[in-house]
Amino acid sequence: MNNRVFLLKPPTKEFSSSFPLNLAYLAAVLRKNGYEVKVLDASARYSIVAPSEILGEIRDFKPLFVGVTLTYDFIKEKYYLINMIKRLGYPVVAGGPHVNIVPMEVLGHGVDIVSLGEGEEVVLELAEAFSGKRKLEEVHGLGLRRSDGKFVFTPRRKEIQDLDSVPFPDYTDYKIRDYIGNDNLDMNKTFFDVFTSRGCPYRCTYCSASRTWDGGQRRRSARNVFEEMMMLHEKYGAKHIAFMDNEPLVDKKRIYELCDLLENSKVKILISTRARVDNVDDKLLKRMMEVGFYKLAIGVESGDDETLRMVKRFYTQEQVLDAMSRLDSIKFPVVHFNNIIGFPWENDKHLNSTLELNRKIPSSLKYFVNVLTPIPMPGTPLYEEYYERFKFKDWWLDSSVYEKLLGGMTKDAPLFYVFMPRLKLDYYRVDFWKYSPTMKKKILELQLSLQKIAYMKNRDFKLLELFFVFLLIKVSVRLFLLSPRLERFLMSPFKHKRMIAYAGKFIFKEQ
Ligand code: SF4
Repeated sequence: MNNRVFLLKPPTKEFSSSFPLNLAYLAAVLRKNGYEVKVLDASARYSIVAPSEILGEIRDFKPLFVGVTLTYDFIKEKYYLINMIKRLGYPVVAGGPHVNIVPMEVLGHGVDIVSLGEGEEVVLELAEAFSGKRKLEEVHGLGLRRSDGKFVFTPRRKEIQDLDSVPFPDYTDYKIRDYIGNDNLDMNKTFFDVFTSRGCPYRCTYCSASRTWDGGQRRRSARNVFEEMMMLHEKYGAKHIAFMDNEPLVDKKRIYELCDLLENSKVKILISTRARVDNVDDKLLKRMMEVGFYKLAIGVESGDDETLRMVKRFYTQEQVLDAMSRLDSIKFPVVHFNNIIGFPWENDKHLNSTLELNRKIPSSLKYFVNVLTPIPMPGTPLYEEYYERFKFKDWWLDSSVYEKLLGGMTKDAPLFYVFMPRLKLDYYRVDFWKYSPTMKKKILELQLSLQKIAYMKNRDFKLLELFFVFLLIKVSVRLFLLSPRLERFLMSPFKHKRMIAYAGKFIFKEQ
């Protein structure tokens, strides 16, 4: 009897550099229950798989159904591929973040079934339904297209409360070289991701977490997280692990327990984690440092109290600075954070507050910044509130918009990009918020200023050196905005081997 399930992450121009962990979870559950599974990540950076090959693999495997995970990038191309798969005669079930936000859109583009919420229980029941062991309509958490063309939804599925009962993700189908181009794990320190919890107790307006999860946070036990980390270390040689859940540090007792387990194991693993400003607890972080935690991605986002309130972060500039000085006092090794500037209500006052915040961060703290403008992600309150006013309804359905957001920076990169690959100028290409020319200029200046402050504070640069490098970057940016071809023509003499090697010292490498 056919017991095969094909799981696919479709190809996209936005390459992935780590495993699709959601499919690895589904594969683990299915295999544990006797199903034969094939997982194909067609978007892995070093092994992009063309649609024709994907169709060939599906045809050869002859699955009961094809499960596809969907994110909103290049979604039209993904819908096109799904319809090609359907023409082979295989039902397609879609899950993932985009499906939870716009299930009707996904069904409307030809997908047979959408799976809402967590997939581990649904995928098993779906496999049983396609094997004739139960009725499809009895599976909770689905949206279906009926034979009369109407869409129906089965009752909502409850979230899994006991996360320790979920098997560890199955990495069998992945090869590290598909993601980083070789087998050297030191090249990608965030390669092995672990989710210690699901959901987020907060409701920031630019984030769609609340649309994906019911609300609140469900946590795995310290022992269960520890055992997964040991499995990654022993079976795959993991030396670095990144905690990728939204707020791993909310339950401090659990993290203290994890620290004890890691200490007693004597295994050395470097761990990066995330935290909100109001979860920075120096005593806890000091303990975490003793057992291998070395990098903290901290949600800062803005230095302006009004903006922080409007995006529902609910902390203040004072609290951010307090958190930073506590991280400094314990000499936490590496801190990363984002500044988001240019929300639709922002003016000089807001931008200046963010500048002021960055200036006040203690000089001895080793920190790295990204400076971004807000993108109205599907399903976020920011999108819902502003799409009519700024006329960007369903913008993700136009692939050219996403193409412009990516910016084509990989080929013939301008000189500034060699120094600052994370300098995002997407608001010049896709102006969601209809900034005035003056505002764009201010945002650009602030982006450069904040990067310069970070370099001045915690890098070993001479002032004169920074002056010339930033002059070069500014000229390159200005020319690029006038015409990328002009920039290429005039700045190419600077793009020689030695300059590129020198620029390496300015890049915020993954530490
Ligand atoms: S931005 Fe982070 S803290 Fe805020 S809702 Fe999203 S996941 Fe939660």
